[in-house]
Amino acid sequence: MVAKGDLLYVWSLDKDIRDKGETGGAVTAVLKCMLESHMVDAVYTMKKGMDLYDARPVLITDPNEIIRTAGSIHCGTLLVPKQLAKTVLNADPNMKIGVVTKGCDSMAMYEMAKRNQINLDNIVMIGVNCGGTVRPNMARKMVREKFGVDPDTVVKEEIDKGQFIIKTADGNHKGISMDELEEHGYGRRSNCRRCKMKVPRQADLACGNWGVMGDKVGNTTFVEVCTEKGALVMNQAIEAKAIAVEPAPPKAIEIRGKVEGAMTKLGDKWRNKYFKAAGTGNERLEMVIKETSRCIKCYTCIENCPICYCEECSTKKPYLIPPGQVPPGFMFHMIRFMHVADSCINCGQCEELCPVDIENSRLMHMIQSDIQGMFGYVPGVDMTLPVLAIATEPEERERLKSTGTDQIFKIFKEG
Ligand code: FAD
Ligand code: SF4
Ligand code: SF4
Ligand code: SF4
Ligand code: SF4
Repeated sequence: MVAKGDLLYVWSLDKDIRDKGETGGAVTAVLKCMLESHMVDAVYTMKKGMDLYDARPVLITDPNEIIRTAGSIHCGTLLVPKQLAKTVLNADPNMKIGVVTKGCDSMAMYEMAKRNQINLDNIVMIGVNCGGTVRPNMARKMVREKFGVDPDTVVKEEIDKGQFIIKTADGNHKGISMDELEEHGYGRRSNCRRCKMKVPRQADLACGNWGVMGDKVGNTTFVEVCTEKGALVMNQAIEAKAIAVEPAPPKAIEIRGKVEGAMTKLGDKWRNKYFKAAGTGNERLEMVIKETSRCIKCYTCIENCPICYCEECSTKKPYLIPPGQVPPGFMFHMIRFMHVADSCINCGQCEELCPVDIENSRLMHMIQSDIQGMFGYVPGVDMTLPVLAIATEPEERERLKSTGTDQIFKIFKEG
């Protein structure tokens, strides 16, 4: 019997899934089994979109359809839980769903659950380790300029052993180290460089290829069983003969630990670099005011942020932000910094989707990092409430209206 805490080598027993899966198809096999056993009503995950640089979310209810989603899409930068909540859960909040989550997705799940946007009891989170994602337009540019290859001739992309690797239609492989690419202004999104959530242990399972050795490379998934729910999922899949499982060898566990440690250090290095460049005190404030002064008030950052959920956003209140003014005054950004910064999970959506390329994620993450240093609150790792989330929005709106107070969240005790 598989139990919480187990570290396993896993592969699909269905040859088609094993062939199509990224590293043995364990994730696809488990998702299929969850649908067949009616443990979940649907699976929400990613499939290839227009081309291999484009990822699209998909909701699947037919177990036979799930194989279409096998494989990793390293240019899949969407934040899964926000899309899930906006579409599927908006239509049916009680649906039971299996979801594949990267580190940032897993963190967003928890922060959204704290804000009653997602009910974790209805979710099975199949986590995937994540070394980073590349923006689709950056990937095309990088393939053209650094690899000297037409991006439309690429049939497979992967990130392995620190390299971005492409395979072209004529069977050729070419890889360039991510360090080199990033030194020259290409590579992963800036938030991914700063990310330290490499193994998403707040998911029910954490699946990846780190630690897989010898002839198992490429056809076996290393799975950490993180919760009782995760153990249940695994035991069901074993019983249904969907997957084979064996304990991961001690050497594999050691290697995986070392790679995770190295990636965490790399995240620290990038944080230092990005945050230091912003200066301190007034210098930092001036930089933030200057950077945000290009804003066209399109609200995209708010609509796509997992922390922003309010039906009545303060940035739309005419007495706070005068309507029709573009760029908006700095108060627009101050509101977001005040409301979001303590819980920012560094998912990058507010930066990558900003039409004028404001480094929103870097700015917010920088402030989050300072707040974490001051108050110790670490967002996205468990259900601990952040400083500003001890009140619910409708109650707070009512209290504001009835008392005329200007303190949005009543976080400090009276007296
Ligand atoms: P499969 O059976 O192939 O299933 C993969 C599942 O992942 C599918 O359901 C698919 O829809 C979903 N998926 C694909 N792309 C995305 C995406 N962008 N966002 C959300 N879901 C997605 N493992 C490591 O050990 N080290 C790494 O550095 C690492 N980096 C990764 C980076 C990315 C962007 C992704 C998506 C995965 C990464 N992995 C990494 C995990 C690894 O690539 C495999 O996903 C994992 O080993 C499971 O393999 P599998 O054959 O069991 O999965
Ligand atoms: Fe992966 Fe972290 Fe980037 Fe999310 S933020 S895509 S978990 S590296
Ligand atoms: Fe993600 Fe930006 Fe919101 Fe932070 S502020 S959680 S980086 S969208
Ligand atoms: Fe985000 Fe604040 Fe607007 Fe709510 S009021 S949506 S937290 S900016
Ligand atoms: Fe301003 Fe960019 Fe946010 Fe749009 S996405 S409101 S332009 S900061």
